[in-house]
Amino acid sequence: MKRFIKKVAIVTGAGSGIGRATALRLSREGASVVLVDRSEAGLLETENGLAEGTRALKRVMDVSDEAAVQALVQDVMATFGQIDVLCNNAGIAGSHPPVTENDAAEWQQILAVNLIGTMLFIKHVAPHMQARKLGAIVNTASVAGIRSGAGGNAYSASKAGVINLTQTAACDLGSDNVRVNAVCPGLVETGMTRRVFDYARANEKAHKLGSRCELRRYGAAEEIAAAILFLASDDASYITGQALPVDGGNTASLNLPG
Ligand code: NAD
Repeated sequence: MKRFIKKVAIVTGAGSGIGRATALRLSREGASVVLVDRSEAGLLETENGLAEGTRALKRVMDVSDEAAVQALVQDVMATFGQIDVLCNNAGIAGSHPPVTENDAAEWQQILAVNLIGTMLFIKHVAPHMQARKLGAIVNTASVAGIRSGAGGNAYSASKAGVINLTQTAACDLGSDNVRVNAVCPGLVETGMTRRVFDYARANEKAHKLGSRCELRRYGAAEEIAAAILFLASDDASYITGQALPVDGGNTASLNLPG
């Protein structure tokens, strides 16, 4: 499939995990890619994996820094002249304290990256899409934003915010033919979850990870990327304002013990 020929796609968090898998598949499907991450080493590794001949721009930056977002968007427009796809994927997790032991500074940091970073990219990219009456935005939320128990409470609240922002932005931008959707991944082995997987393997419990999903396994970054590309593509031309769980059926069931 080559659904993104002559298209320009920005991917945040492109230096690892789901963002890297998304950027690599976009490049294989013909897109020019803008790779954003705070990790230079991660971006280099992603860049090395791009399909031959892919036009790429990479930027080491913090997605919660509005001046940096604005400068990047200006540079992308100067370089490519258009932005067709925005994948807001950069994210951080955090600790899992009970609600009575929350740390306000940690909440602010998680909300700044996961929610405000997503908002800032939509704010500065969408006007360029509206001007062409064309664009697709896909935000990476999480099953943690749908129900509790899949992450710390700051992380979960940030992802619930991303789902709601997805709906709000879809309503604001729909009349200009700019679609906004989200994916809600379940458990996927990436940099973010490496410690969970390392611990499980060290304790011979790896086979149990993902056992509460209906498909009885955890997901791969490439499977989330496939859903992101579907929502970003013309195959999803009548879908907007939706949050698609990509979770092996995890949210389809109550998963009661026993
Ligand atoms: P990851 O840690 O492998 O990748 C996240 C990337 O985001 C990293 O390269 C990191 O450097 C970058 N990043 C973090 N903060 C940044 C910032 N302020 N500015 C720029 N870049 C920043 O993790 P992942 O699992 O690939 O995460 C991608 C997205 O998927 C995240 O939004 C995460 O919340 C979401 N998600 C992951 C899972 C999972 O099980 N892995 C499940 C649900 C949702």
